[in-house]
Amino acid sequence: MSTLKLAIQKSGRLSDSSKALLKECGISIQNGKNQLLAPAVNFPMEILYLRDDDIPQYVEDGVADIGILGENVVQETDKSVVVSQQLGFSKCRLSLAVPKAVDYPGPSYFQSKRIATSYPNILSKYLQTQNVEAEIHKISGSVEIAPSIGLAEGVCDIVSSGSTLFSNGLKEVEVILKSQAVLIASDNLSPEKQDILDKFLFRIEAVNRAKSNKYIIMNAPNEKVSEIVQLLPGMRSPTVVPLATEGWSAIHSVVNEQKFWEMIDKLKEYGAEGILVAPIEKMIL
Ligand code: ATP
Ligand code: ZN
Repeated sequence: MSTLKLAIQKSGRLSDSSKALLKECGISIQNGKNQLLAPAVNFPMEILYLRDDDIPQYVEDGVADIGILGENVVQETDKSVVVSQQLGFSKCRLSLAVPKAVDYPGPSYFQSKRIATSYPNILSKYLQTQNVEAEIHKISGSVEIAPSIGLAEGVCDIVSSGSTLFSNGLKEVEVILKSQAVLIASDNLSPEKQDILDKFLFRIEAVNRAKSNKYIIMNAPNEKVSEIVQLLPGMRSPTVVPLATEGWSAIHSVVNEQKFWEMIDKLKEYGAEGILVAPIEKMIL
C-alpha cells in the first residue's frame, strides 16, 4: 500500500503549527527522539523532519511527496512543485527596510546601494520590475544588523510585527511579498498518492473552515424569529426550536466569526438574549 511522505520543518517557527495541523486532522505520529522519519499510526503517511529551505528540493526530487513551508521559501527556491493549499498560519511579509533617519523617496533609493537579504532571488526579481540596480548581499541570518555594521544601506527581510526592524533602527518601506504557510506537492504524484493527498486536503479544509466559523445559540421572542433567521446564514438554514417558556424560541446557527461581530447589535435590537458562541472542531459541508 502507498504512503504519502510529508516533509515538515524539524525545528523552527513552522514546526509546532505543522504538527498541530496534523493532530487536528486526526493524524497521530509515532514520535521517537531525534528521528528524521516517523510513520503516522492511523493514516497512510510518513513524516520527514527537514530544514524548511530544503523542502522544495526534496519534493521536486520525489524524496518527499508533499511539504509544509512558507510561501517565501517556495518562491525563493523556485523549484517545480505545486502549491496545493494555503494553510493560514505563519503569516508574514518580505519587506525592504532602511535606517529610520532616511527620507525615503521610493524604490529609487536603492539604486546602486547595497541590500542585505536571505532572499536574493525574490529581491532581484522585484528590483528588475522597479528598474533599480542594486548590489545584493546574501547573508543567511541576522540580516537586520547589516546597516548598523556598515554592510548595507538597506535590508530585505521577513517582517511580522516590525519590532525587530524597529529595535535595529530600521523602518519598513516596501512590502515585496505577503506570505503564509502552504502545502506544496510534487507535480507527478501517482494516482494512489494523489488519493491520499485528496483525503488529507479534505481534512485540512474541514479544520480550517471550522476555525473561521462559530456555532451560535440564542433565545428570542417568537415574533422576532423570522427577522433573526433572515440575518443568520447557517449551514443550510438556522435551526429554530421552541423554549419551554411560552412565546420564546432558541435559534441555532453557524456564522463566520467576523460576520458575527458585525451582526451582534442587530441581534440585540431584535431582542435576542442569552447568546452563546462556541468553537467548532470540524466542519464538513
Ligand atoms: P531552518 O533552520 O529550518 O532553515 P529558518 O530560520 O529558516 O529555519 P524560521 O525562522 O523557523 O526559519 O521561519 C520559518 C518560516 O516561518 C519562514 O520562512 C516564514 O515563512 C515564517 N516566519 C518567519 N518569521 C516569521 C514571523 N516573525 N512571524 C510569522 N512567520 C514567520
Ligand atoms: Zn530556513
